[in-house]
Amino acid sequence: MTRIRDDFNQRTKNDLALRAGYLCSYCKRSTVGPSDERPDAVAMIGIAAHICAAAPGPGARRYDPNMTPEERSHIDNGIWLCASCSVLIDRDQERFSVEVLRQMRRDHEASCRLGDNGSEAEGDLVAIGSDIVAVGHILGSGPAGMRVRLSHFVEGASRDLLALVHEFDRQLPEKRYILMNELGYGGLLDGAPNVERMGSAYEVQFRLQQTAPRRDATAEAVGMCAETGRMISGMDAYIQNFERALGMARGTWFARIRDGSDLSDLYWRYKDSPWFKRLAMMEMIRLSSIPSIKKCAHGPSTPFACVNRVNRVEVPTFELEGQRLNLRVEFDIEGLGPWSGELSVFISTPEQLAKGRASARIHHENIQRIEAESRNDLL
Ligand SMILES: [Zn+2]
Repeated sequence: MTRIRDDFNQRTKNDLALRAGYLCSYCKRSTVGPSDERPDAVAMIGIAAHICAAAPGPGARRYDPNMTPEERSHIDNGIWLCASCSVLIDRDQERFSVEVLRQMRRDHEASCRLGDNGSEAEGDLVAIGSDIVAVGHILGSGPAGMRVRLSHFVEGASRDLLALVHEFDRQLPEKRYILMNELGYGGLLDGAPNVERMGSAYEVQFRLQQTAPRRDATAEAVGMCAETGRMISGMDAYIQNFERALGMARGTWFARIRDGSDLSDLYWRYKDSPWFKRLAMMEMIRLSSIPSIKKCAHGPSTPFACVNRVNRVEVPTFELEGQRLNLRVEFDIEGLGPWSGELSVFISTPEQLAKGRASARIHHENIQRIEAESRNDLL
């Protein structure tokens, strides 16, 4: 009988590497290095090792027949190691028990938390379109545009970056963007970026389009408080809009199926990791810098239309209170300048996300069908 191995998928491997800071959890050596074999072989020389083996059989270590295939291929059953340590832990099952490996991973992930201002050498997160997130830093900006150096990929790989350049005109316009945590803003690209391989890194040169129009926060913004039903104005109304935009999960609103925020998904993937606040910050930069697809009456607009820069995002605790997560944020606000405050954002459970997306898809398809039918009736 041949058994299928319950291997990790690519996303789980990337998450493990990221959470480990790209260092081996045991010997602490870097698992990122140059490779001249293939242009896309830069990033990973580390191994997403199984704590309990992926399949039974000779040589399988710490195999647990009581685990389901989902549990075996879940990120909780993984540990990021260099190639030699991954061999070592499989030679000595007595010394490297399940509990020892779990503790090793916890200690390592806790020890590789980045400092508050980010690690200078590593830089911060850069997103290029919706499929690529990398750790990188800004080299400079001049008449030819801005230049960033990407050192590791968090989402996507170098082939996605090259595909984005070569198929730039075929990408959805709202996906041709760059977001930079180091600067606190981003924007739509003016044209295909120029990508160069530099040793083990990639350098990307690009120009941004004019920023989407900003809304002056000191101008009247009036809304109704969702809790009390009383009228609120000014920053209170803006805060409620921020919370709403962040709490509306992407794909759950049938009228705008491509809009929404990824914060709930990020929460479940990166909860308890120092990367969550960086990815949450990137999401807020996207919501402030990248206009939504549907044009509104006043031209292109972003959900965070008054935010010029996202300067800081802190997560005081990952505990949810009544399904809400508290975030401390610092923004640069049009008309107001630096502003700091707290946002309380609704986090959908994975089940709610799946259900909401399935029903939004059905509604969306029904509406498209009805629209197509009424167009046919008119002919
Ligand atoms: Zn090692």
